[in-house]
Amino acid sequence: RSAELLARQARRESNARSYPRRLPIAIAEASGSLVRDVDGNVFIDFLAGAGVLSLGHNHPELVAAVTAQLGLLTHGLDFPTPVKDAFTEAQLSMLAPRLQDQMKIHFCGPTGANAVDAAIKLCKTATGRGEIVSFQGGFHGSSHAAMAVTGLVAQKQPVANGVPGVHFFPYSYCARCPLGLSPDRCATNCVEYLERALADGNGGVPLPAAVIMEMVQGEGGIVPARREFVQRVRGLTRDLGIPLVVDEVQTGCGRTGTWYAFEEYGIDPDVIVASKALSGIGAPVAVILYDRKLDTWAPGAHTGTFRGNQLAFAAGVEAIRIIQRDDVLGNVTRRGEQIAERLSALQKHPWVAEVRGRGLMWGVEFADPVDGRPAGSLAADVQARALRRGLIVEVGGREDCVVRLMPPLNVTAEHVETACVILLDAVAAAVR
Ligand code: PMP
Repeated sequence: RSAELLARQARRESNARSYPRRLPIAIAEASGSLVRDVDGNVFIDFLAGAGVLSLGHNHPELVAAVTAQLGLLTHGLDFPTPVKDAFTEAQLSMLAPRLQDQMKIHFCGPTGANAVDAAIKLCKTATGRGEIVSFQGGFHGSSHAAMAVTGLVAQKQPVANGVPGVHFFPYSYCARCPLGLSPDRCATNCVEYLERALADGNGGVPLPAAVIMEMVQGEGGIVPARREFVQRVRGLTRDLGIPLVVDEVQTGCGRTGTWYAFEEYGIDPDVIVASKALSGIGAPVAVILYDRKLDTWAPGAHTGTFRGNQLAFAAGVEAIRIIQRDDVLGNVTRRGEQIAERLSALQKHPWVAEVRGRGLMWGVEFADPVDGRPAGSLAADVQARALRRGLIVEVGGREDCVVRLMPPLNVTAEHVETACVILLDAVAAAVR
């Protein structure tokens, strides 16, 4: 049945479809961390809707919240509604107290890319400047502006230059140091490069409207930024009066063990972009949270029909209640440590360049032991073998050489254990 549905889809759907090419299953139903395909095969889902399903598929309390909202109000444009008010309150309450009064929320909609676009537009309006600084390997979405600031070149295809004035700088990707330095010789020169380019009034980069970055590059292959790197970018942007936009679309809402990943880096951004897991159940919604001093938009300056979804609001309020009640962020940390420990044996594997992650965002990077080249075909083989053994994982990074693990945040220790056994097995079978 899966094969039949995949063939029907391939005949009628855009050639740009992506997930079913690598994960050739047709999904019939799902619950928690488990997915059942139309042939009755059950998989542990370590893709979780690309990080969307923070509380797993069909969490019963989220289903109840959405169902109750369905009978009340489903669409509200950008009028105030009680559930929108509750969602706003809940979102702001997750920020540190000093940020709660400092930040405003803007409902963009409904995807991460829409919110990235909004952040760029806001910063251009507020500063009156046009340039944007972004980082190599970053991913920010498929809309024109979000794609323009995406540094993951393979994702851009041939239509990259829709938005002029985007400048890319090296990210602190130490396993593949952009400056070719070994860790013992590194003095975070990648950030120094940016510092010098911005300071160079003669041939450097013009003062930009914003610097946009991920704390952990997700699509880029689960690359957590070095702490010093992030702190220096923050110091630099603050000194020069450049708004720092932190793209938390993938890292946000608890994925890395804190509500937002920037919290672990000891910085405050000027703009936070959030989307994927805001509703916890996959009802689409995207927001930017930004410093009040940037609030220079005239009324109606950034409109849209789907600015906030009442069903997503209802689920999002309930998701935060459950996350706090059940100490889900504690589970993220514990299950993350479990993954780190279970996969630590892979560090010594000749074809594994690095195992790295934060919270419940992990990556295993495969590289040729002789020349260090990204081993994308090996990662694809591991992904396919894992699927046959009952585990759904995604790949990403350079030439898709990183196998990525993104389970629901409330995943059980048993499912993590089984998933790690399957993955280790799949690696052993792939490299013989
Ligand atoms: N930013 C980041 C960091 C992302 O990971 C993604 C999606 N993978 C996006 C933006 C774009 O979000 P969407 O696909 O919802 O447009």
